Order: sequence, then C-alpha cells, then structure tokens
Amino acid sequence: MGKRYFCDYCDRSFQDNLHNRKKHLNGVQHLRSKKSWYDLFRNAAAILQEEQSKKPCRKFLQTGQCDFGSNCRFSHMTEEDLEKLNAQVQEERRREQQEDGADVLGGTIEEWLEKRAKRLSLVQNRYRSPPPPLLLSVMLSMVAWGLFLALLLTPLATHVKP
Ligand SMILES: [Zn+2]
Ligand SMILES: [Zn+2]
Repeated sequence: MGKRYFCDYCDRSFQDNLHNRKKHLNGVQHLRSKKSWYDLFRNAAAILQEEQSKKPCRKFLQTGQCDFGSNCRFSHMTEEDLEKLNAQVQEERRREQQEDGADVLGGTIEEWLEKRAKRLSLVQNRYRSPPPPLLLSVMLSMVAWGLFLALLLTPLATHVKP
C-alpha cells in the first residue's frame, strides 16, 4: 500500500505520488478551498487582534448586555472567548506553517501577530483619526466672527439708508 496524502484544505486524501500531488495542488477545487480557508483564517486573526486592542466593556461583562452591541468600542469578549479565539488562530497558524514549511515563514506566532498588529493599527489610525482640533476651532471661530459681524452691520445698514 502506498502512502496517502491528506489535503487539509480540501479535507480529502489520495495516493501520494508526484503526479497526483501536482494534479491536486493545481486543481481548481483545491485552489478554491485553499483560498477560502485563508480568508477564514485572516478573519479569525483579525477579530482576535481587534478585540485584544479594545478595553473590556464593563457594562456587558457585568450585566450581559450592552446597547451598543457590535458597534460598542469596548470588547464584549470574555477572557474565555479570547482564549478560544487565540487557540483557533494558533491552530490555524500551525496548519499554515505545516503546509508552507516553517522555515519559509519563520518567527513565532507572537512575532507574526505583532507585525500584523502594527500593520493593522497603521490602517486603523488612518481611518479613525478625527479632524485636527486646530483646524476645527479655526473654522468654528470664523463662523462665529461671521455671525458677529453680520449682527453688528445689519442695524447700521438700515440706519444709513434714507
Ligand atoms: Zn486540496
Ligand atoms: Zn459594550
């Protein structure tokens, strides 16, 4: 009996030889499963990263509910939830390394997540930064001055007219 190759992505096995392997790894079905698996993995890692960057929502953790729901800027995940998610990400990460060869990627999960966090926070900062306060106050004071001058000039204008 020959060795069998088990494909994690497709969840199926076949007789392990170069021909079969090549054929399978280049097959449409395999590429599709691999892509959707990576998408799923990225999501889990992204969720974990985001939740870990938030402070826990006290209201949710104390009462079990929070009016903000998924829009809450605090995390609704308990320690246990985070641990579970973390375990999932690590398991998937391990699988990924197995497939690609650990040497190619190198580094620990922590290092990888750290790099990822840096990239993520760069992106998030770009989108979440509020308008610069200086510009905002200048604009507001200009509006206030405009109103002030308008009020000041209106009675004068009416008096000057004959
Ligand atoms: Zn496959
Ligand atoms: Zn909340």
